[in-house]
Amino acid sequence: MNTFAVLVTKKNGDVHQLYRTKLGRWTVNRKKAHKFRFTKDARPAIKKWASKHKVVSIEFSAKKNPFVVYDTITSDGDEATGRVQPKLEKKLNEVGRDIKRKLFVGEGKRSAHAQWRFYMDFLGGHGNLAARCCTKFNAWEKHSWARCGKNSQSNHYTGDAADTVIMPSWNNIGTSREAVASMRRHGLGLPVGGENWHVEISNSFNGL
Ligand SMILES: [Zn+2]
Ligand SMILES: [Zn+2]
Repeated sequence: MNTFAVLVTKKNGDVHQLYRTKLGRWTVNRKKAHKFRFTKDARPAIKKWASKHKVVSIEFSAKKNPFVVYDTITSDGDEATGRVQPKLEKKLNEVGRDIKRKLFVGEGKRSAHAQWRFYMDFLGGHGNLAARCCTKFNAWEKHSWARCGKNSQSNHYTGDAADTVIMPSWNNIGTSREAVASMRRHGLGLPVGGENWHVEISNSFNGL
């Protein structure tokens, strides 16, 4: 049976996950959580709880990590295409839960073709510094997609990097002191200089 997580948004914009305690009460206190996911029949009770607790919206999410949202444009219309490695996604979810905000991954897993496009843009002088699309050519040599070695040197290629902003402010994750503190606790870093949005499992904060 399908189960879902419940996210509730309070008036001040804080997003909490809702849990059930051992005694069958609802709570946003994770320490008291006994159940984390629910089936459809729990909806009326959740809505009743929400109406008494100044909740402005409730989200029933089938996602494993409901605090993580992917850009469907950069991942070719399908959220699943851009999904990062489960371990990284889980840690991002924990950070979102800590800071009570959903996190938007503008670029997650990136295809070899997208990396080739980025790198050729960079070589052409109209794009940001990008990792090489392959090691078949010298770093400065432009080449066609057909001839590309297609072994992208970006950690986005393997889904080990997530370019992340905080919703709904769209500020880069590295601009929030609270988010950075949470990332440190969960073993996430910002390893790329000048990129305070590029998150990896790392203990480097070069990007700050
Ligand atoms: Zn190439
Ligand atoms: Zn990145």
